[in-house]
Amino acid sequence: MRRLVGTTTVEAVDDLLVSYALEQAGCVSAALVRPQRTDSGWSVAGCAIPAGAHQVVVDLMQHGQNRESSADARHQAFRMGADGSLVMAMSFSSPPADVELEQSILPCLELAEQHLQQVRMLVDLHASHRQLARSESLQRALFTISDLSGSELDMPEMLRGIHDILRSLMYAENFYIVRCDPRQSTLHFLYYADTVDETSPVIGQEMAMDAIQGSLTWHLITRGKPLMGSAEEIIAQLGGSLKALGPESADWLGVPMLRDGVVHGALVVQSYRQGIRFSDEDSTLLMFVGSHILTALERKQSKHELEQHVRERTSELARLNLGLRQEVQERQRAVRLQESLFQLARLATSDLDEDSFYQRVHAVVRKLLNAENFFISLLSSDRRSLELPYFVDKGVRHRMTRPLGRGLSEYVLRRGEAWLGTRDDINALQRSGEVVPHRIGAPSMSWLGVPLRFEDEVIGLVAVQSYEQGASYGAADKNLLSFVALQIAHSINRRRSAAALQEANIRLEHRVEERTRELRAEISRRERIQQQLRHQVMHDPLTALPNRGYLRDRLERLLAVLKSEPGRCCALLYIDVDRFKMINDSLGHLAGDEFLKVVAERLRYCVRDPDVVARLSGDEFAILLEDIGPHRNVEEVASRVLQVMNQSMQIAGREIEPSVSMGIAVGDGHYGHADELVRDADIALYRAKELGRRRYVVFDQTLARSAQDVFTLEGELRHALQRDEFEPYFQPIRRLADGRLMGYEALLRWNHPYRGMLAPNDFLRVAQDTGHLESIDWRLFKRAFQSFGKMTSSGLFLSINVSPRHLRNADFDRRLLGLLERAGFPGAAHLVVEVTEGALLESAGKVQATLGRLHDAGIDAALDDFGTGYSSLSYLHTLPLRKLKIDQSFVQALGEQVPDNSSMVVAAILALGRALNVVVIAEGIETETQRRMLLEMGCEYGQGYLLGRPAPAEAWSVKAGQPA
Ligand code: C2E
Ligand code: MG
Ligand code: MG
Repeated sequence: MRRLVGTTTVEAVDDLLVSYALEQAGCVSAALVRPQRTDSGWSVAGCAIPAGAHQVVVDLMQHGQNRESSADARHQAFRMGADGSLVMAMSFSSPPADVELEQSILPCLELAEQHLQQVRMLVDLHASHRQLARSESLQRALFTISDLSGSELDMPEMLRGIHDILRSLMYAENFYIVRCDPRQSTLHFLYYADTVDETSPVIGQEMAMDAIQGSLTWHLITRGKPLMGSAEEIIAQLGGSLKALGPESADWLGVPMLRDGVVHGALVVQSYRQGIRFSDEDSTLLMFVGSHILTALERKQSKHELEQHVRERTSELARLNLGLRQEVQERQRAVRLQESLFQLARLATSDLDEDSFYQRVHAVVRKLLNAENFFISLLSSDRRSLELPYFVDKGVRHRMTRPLGRGLSEYVLRRGEAWLGTRDDINALQRSGEVVPHRIGAPSMSWLGVPLRFEDEVIGLVAVQSYEQGASYGAADKNLLSFVALQIAHSINRRRSAAALQEANIRLEHRVEERTRELRAEISRRERIQQQLRHQVMHDPLTALPNRGYLRDRLERLLAVLKSEPGRCCALLYIDVDRFKMINDSLGHLAGDEFLKVVAERLRYCVRDPDVVARLSGDEFAILLEDIGPHRNVEEVASRVLQVMNQSMQIAGREIEPSVSMGIAVGDGHYGHADELVRDADIALYRAKELGRRRYVVFDQTLARSAQDVFTLEGELRHALQRDEFEPYFQPIRRLADGRLMGYEALLRWNHPYRGMLAPNDFLRVAQDTGHLESIDWRLFKRAFQSFGKMTSSGLFLSINVSPRHLRNADFDRRLLGLLERAGFPGAAHLVVEVTEGALLESAGKVQATLGRLHDAGIDAALDDFGTGYSSLSYLHTLPLRKLKIDQSFVQALGEQVPDNSSMVVAAILALGRALNVVVIAEGIETETQRRMLLEMGCEYGQGYLLGRPAPAEAWSVKAGQPA
């Protein structure tokens, strides 16, 4: 029993108990058995005990007792252990004594039982201690594996590390890892370490699964379950044959690497030593390692894939980037090209001189193409030579002109299109004779020329050439140079047209200058003429005095000034020379002119600056006193004028006593127009004349009223025509010697409704001014013709006064003859028309024609009031005037006390009449003396109050043919 204390293992306790049992007397066999419960009861199979003992053990278990013995007591069974699962079976050669058994074996068994329990506890403690230590190191190893698989180490290094750890956990000297694709069509070795195998597979080399078909590894992968054992054992497990690959191992353990039930590879360890075998624990461990390796592999792989992807993406991006860079470069090139083209276009329109233009163009072209050798050549104006204003060859500039030949340039000029060619092309042209090779310089390897055009004409070319082998121009260069050519041609054309334009401008400028000079001369000539004309227009040529227009103008301006200066006044003196007509007629035109000049001179003498003296018409003058007032009395000026003008003067050797009549109007701001002031002065003048001349009259409102009478008169004349208030008075014309009636002069009278019978002086001027006179005449003619037909005996004539306007009317004679006929007038030959000199002055041609036609119709014309007009004598020559009436002013002067030259004038007229065979009639004979004197002077016929006053037709009808 002391030995029992020394035992530390269950087996040792078991052994000690068996040997103790065998030491018991009569015991032939003893064994400790652990019966197993089966479906059919209890079994102690495998235990080397006698059959009798076997039955006793089964009975013991079945009966659930602590002791059992066979019937013969030779076989004994004792139950042991706390759970009763251990049974001591003993066989005796003869039945043992119970007492002995109970005293010896049972206490021992009991003791052994207790000791066994302690041993068992100890063993368990040891085991769990080992287990803990192992677990700890395993855990550490697994952590390390996990770390390794997550490390940045590369795959072989990592696998080596895992192998090292694995080696520390189990026998793993020979270890390999394979990887297969999920479809298990290929596999490759990731790791292979083997102490025996000398033909290790190539790591990473892909191989077909079929290549290892039937091998352990193949089975492992295809089954997807761990495989463990010796070759035979495994064959037994698989139930088939094995294909041997590599040296045969004593023990083999392989586990699959699974992910989601799919095999991705396998881990295998093998032992070539008989003693070393693998356990399930190893299998589990390997499975764990395998899962980690797979994770690491997958991670590495995904990292690798990611890296691969990144690499691919990077290189793809790089490719893309390269493409983009190329595109950018292409664009930049295009932009540069565009810029250059713009630059060229700008150059073509810039104001550079020709030489700098070519240089700049060359500089731009150089940037675009190989233009080391570049030239521009132009055809000369006679198109016989080629001028090269810009020629650069190998960087050297030349300037030359050469006659046209048969070079490439000429070829381009001839064809009129661009030509691009290599050496071979040039040679071909030379062979065909199109081009003759020149001997100057190196031969071009490539040549490109483009013609320069102006409208449809080729004017030159631009060319580039290369002497380098292999460097040739292409279609792009051709396009580019064509553009350049366009710009150069444009610039040349611009220059040429600018030059032409400048030339034309210069010519034009010259022409303009010339013309300007001519025009200036012309203008100054015209200005002179204009000035003269203006002077003429504004001045009277005879006296050089300002005329009516000038006066009017001046007056107009003055009145405007007066409007703004209340209180200031001016005065207009309207002057008429009395009886100028007589002076003119009697002394002749020249004397008349002379007389007027003296009048002008005297008037000028009467005034001072800025007063104006003007000649308004024949014998009418005016003085404008610009400023009159308290210090300057207009009447004083007027008196002085009268006094100066009344002084006698010497004209044409004759002493003349001139006199003037004057109308004065004082103007102030109330006058609107010059004409109003002139009108008022005229009215005053009229009044002065009425009052008997040689005087002045200052206009006042009374005069204005009488002027207003003119308007009344005009209206009355119109009514008189409507009411037929005009009638003829007849005054006889007689032979002076015996008073024999020769004819009558019809004189106009107006039987005014309340003013009584009016003579022509009362209304004739107004009738004439208002244009009524002609109508009045016709009315009177008609009545005179009608009356004359009734009152006269045959042989008499009727004289009618014809106002000047009738004679200017081409229709007058026809109308007059018609009227004669209708009025029952005895015949045209009995009619005489009296005309005044005034009528003959204007439109002389027309008047002459009318008088001619009247003459042809048998109507005589008489010149009335002879001697008062201008230059009567010439009319007697040129016009068909058969009669002449001496104005009464000459007649009345005859026989007066004051000696006068009238008798001389009368005598002269009579002499003239005789010479021209014209009948002379004296007018206004009032006295017998006058009749006698006239008769004595040889005047045959006369008219006057002495011979009979004008009277209505009735007064004469009885006395016809009777002497007065
Ligand atoms: P006149 O043709 O020279 O006519 C003669 C004027 O002298 C007439 O004035 C007549 O009455 C006037 N007379 C005749 N004998 C004497 C005399 O001894 N002493 C004076 N002091 N006068 C005498 P009357 O009729 O007043 O005519 C004036 C002028 O009117 C005419 O001058 C004539 O020029 C014009 N006249 C007369 N009748 C007409 C007419 O029917 N038509 C036109 N257009 N003019 C006419
Ligand atoms: Mg008359
Ligand atoms: Mg008369």
